[in-house]
Amino acid sequence: MKITNIIPYPINVGSGSQLIVKIETDSGLYGWGASGLSGRELAVVGAIEHYKPLLIGKNPMQIGAIWQDLYRGQYFEGGRVLTAAISAIDIALYDLKGKALDVPVYELLGGKQRDFVPCFASVRFSSLDELMEHSKKMVKNGWDMLRLAPAEFETLGNTNPYKFEPRESIAIIADWVTALRKEVGTKITIGIDYHTRLTIPETYSFIKRMPEGTLDFIEEPIRDENPGAYKELRKLINVPFAIGEEFSSKWQFLPFLEENITQYARIDVCNVGGITEAMKVASLAESHYIDLMPHNPLGPICTAATIHLAAACPNFSWLEEVNTGAHVTTNDPKFYPKQPKLDGPRYPVSDIPGLGVEVDEEFVRQQEFKQVEIPRLRRNDGSFTNW
Ligand SMILES: [Mg+2]
Repeated sequence: MKITNIIPYPINVGSGSQLIVKIETDSGLYGWGASGLSGRELAVVGAIEHYKPLLIGKNPMQIGAIWQDLYRGQYFEGGRVLTAAISAIDIALYDLKGKALDVPVYELLGGKQRDFVPCFASVRFSSLDELMEHSKKMVKNGWDMLRLAPAEFETLGNTNPYKFEPRESIAIIADWVTALRKEVGTKITIGIDYHTRLTIPETYSFIKRMPEGTLDFIEEPIRDENPGAYKELRKLINVPFAIGEEFSSKWQFLPFLEENITQYARIDVCNVGGITEAMKVASLAESHYIDLMPHNPLGPICTAATIHLAAACPNFSWLEEVNTGAHVTTNDPKFYPKQPKLDGPRYPVSDIPGLGVEVDEEFVRQQEFKQVEIPRLRRNDGSFTNW
């Protein structure tokens, strides 16, 4: 079997954008993958076009060798754009190989280690009422892990939707999360994602404004380029960290795992280098008793690839699930007629050969792609801050 074509499709699904990639072969079999570099899909399309002539004619079954060639076959290796492209290609090759061997992808990774994949609900909110209402609804529906994502503007009562002032936010959110813990009790796991919008002292103040035990973890309160900054933060607070959704190789994970900086690995299979690289990060994490808590805001291909990864890894906590309410739609069946389906707060592990996802390519071809930009947040003094 030989690769004959690779086609990138940037698409708009719900309020976001996705880049899905199809690899075709001379056997008629094909595989689907997805890239995780949200908002910069066209840069990844460019990287895939660079890789296309290197892939055509190759044996698609040699996934590990192809990964090495794509990652190391240039002097300036790595980086988020190239690795997002490699991720999509790698996932598509796993889908293809599963179909070729008539087995689900988890069988290619050592077999199934769990019967289903537990998920956490992403709870977005812009008022205390909304936080309580959404959280209680989730708990009633069986979700026992709530990962809170405070809205970036409404929380502050600002009329300007692009304002975010960290100390105003943490004062309010600390009170609201304390109230939520009282409401839902101790059986529910509560984490919060501050989306790299805080500094070290702001994170300290946020945590210290809540009683001990309010939060079970805090996800990426500060930016992740500098592992030393997280080490400094660790001296000030004792809440576990969940870090890693932007990492684009095992080498980026290395200091965070080797030096026990993070307590959960927020791996994104569509950014880290595909299933090939994710399995290596999972092993590194396992040696430090660190569980994977995969990032999964994209669409059904990322979800399916992560379900197979989760099925085959012993060290796993929860998979991120965003399609639990009205806020987002990343799994539109018009694009994805076959896709993983939630069973309460968990995903069953699919036994369909490959990933178990199908794309309506004709429908995808008819769509016109529009670049989606993330909001640009400003502090009260007009300076830039992270979305
Ligand atoms: Mg996050």
